[in-house]
Amino acid sequence: MSLMFTSPVLTPTIGSFTFSSRRSNYIVMSAVRSNSASTCPVLTKFQKDCDTPTPYLRNVANAIADDMRAGLAVEGGGDLDMILTYVDALPSGNEEGLFYALDLGGTNFRVRSVQLGGKKKRVIATESEQISIPQKLMIGTSEELFGFIAAKLASFVAKEKPGRFQLEEGRKREIGFTFSFPVKQTSIDSGTLIKWTKGFKVSGMEGKNVVACLNEAMEAHGLDMRVSALVNDGVGTLAGARYSDEDVMIGVILGTGTNACYVEQKHAIPKLQSKSSSGTTIINTEWGGFSKVLPQTIFDQEMDANSPNRGEHLYEKMISGMYLGEIVRRVLLQMCETSDLFGQFVPVKLSTPFELRTEHLCKMQEDTTDDLQTVGSVLYNILEVEANLNARRRVVEVCDTVVKRGGRLAGAGIVAILEKIEEETKRMGSGKRTVVAMDGALYEKYPQYRQYMQDALVELLGDKLSHIAIKHTKDVSGLGAALLAATNSIY
Ligand code: ADP
Ligand code: MG
Repeated sequence: MSLMFTSPVLTPTIGSFTFSSRRSNYIVMSAVRSNSASTCPVLTKFQKDCDTPTPYLRNVANAIADDMRAGLAVEGGGDLDMILTYVDALPSGNEEGLFYALDLGGTNFRVRSVQLGGKKKRVIATESEQISIPQKLMIGTSEELFGFIAAKLASFVAKEKPGRFQLEEGRKREIGFTFSFPVKQTSIDSGTLIKWTKGFKVSGMEGKNVVACLNEAMEAHGLDMRVSALVNDGVGTLAGARYSDEDVMIGVILGTGTNACYVEQKHAIPKLQSKSSSGTTIINTEWGGFSKVLPQTIFDQEMDANSPNRGEHLYEKMISGMYLGEIVRRVLLQMCETSDLFGQFVPVKLSTPFELRTEHLCKMQEDTTDDLQTVGSVLYNILEVEANLNARRRVVEVCDTVVKRGGRLAGAGIVAILEKIEEETKRMGSGKRTVVAMDGALYEKYPQYRQYMQDALVELLGDKLSHIAIKHTKDVSGLGAALLAATNSIY
């Protein structure tokens, strides 16, 4: 099997901590039942409810593929929006000049400059900066959010070294704007926000042209730049990865949220009302919106009920980084309340939504010590709880259950897209290699998640995997967005 996972091998990191009594942060549970047996009914039921055996995964892959077809047939036909991106041409390698990428994802905002030198010189120079988005801007007004972005962009451009970056005379600086939320694209350089996801709820934006919002803010900051391509991070990843590998057909993001984009044959898109039905175009699946046949537990339901986008994006809520830690927290809380997971107390921090993050699960699962020292210290530092070895083991079991389900479901989604591509192109059947470009910190930094995803691919694709490569293409979405600005330059 030539399935290639090209992610870096990670070494566990062990932090240092001070142990002191923090009893004031506990709620005394007088009604807690003592349960010293090694079984825990909450955990056992949760594991059962999260189970995704191969036939179940096959159902999920088929249901995703059905919704892909439904979404390609008519607008709103299925859970997956299957958005037309207006990107028909992926980068060829001939692109030249100075271009920019702006990336508004979830946790961070990134800005990048790229000096492209054509086929021979490729990327001559590139510079980037990452800025975390203040929490209050995620739920503020569009003027505040875009004003912040424009201000950061202005200071980035002001720092530019003239010798390294050169803008051709008479040209404006052109931007590829990666806006990683569901957008109804109206042309390559305009689109309206369909809905916020990933905890964002910025007022005055839904139904508005996101490029116009950015343009207004840039103008207000005296910035003479123009957005030439509005893309999604999946499209950016696909375009950036294609720059160095022409077999890349799919771009998948597994970070705060999740999405996938792929190269589709125009003749397979009934809703595409264009004269030409030949050639290919990029489809942004918005697969995070898939919400059928998923193994939803009571914990998923409760988390969903408390989310700003209730009832929506259930697939995203099971497989992406923003939510895995929160699901684990909810399970642990119930284990605490119904059995004495952490003794007779329920730690206050365990009752705080999103206090336990996916990064923490990852750190705990990397613990190879006999007494699960790292697990103990993560629990102490994050949840302010002293956990004995039995409790630590149970916590790891909960993490593993959630991460296994997430990774396997993500794998089923990739299979659905691979099979859809194969249905239209028969490329794998004819011996052609197909590459899936992966990005996002969840995929990059969580080895167990990657492994579970790989297991699902092996189970569902078997021998067909011999022509498929899963490639970790770190941070290429910025390059991809800049390349698409070049491909769609007005000059
Ligand atoms: P975004 O999706 O916001 O563009 P990233 O791709 O950097 O940004 O993803 C950030 C998300 O990845 C975080 O919200 C977190 O859920 C997850 N993540 C970050 N670091 C780790 C880690 N070490 N292990 C597992 N997941 C992580
Ligand atoms: Mg991102």
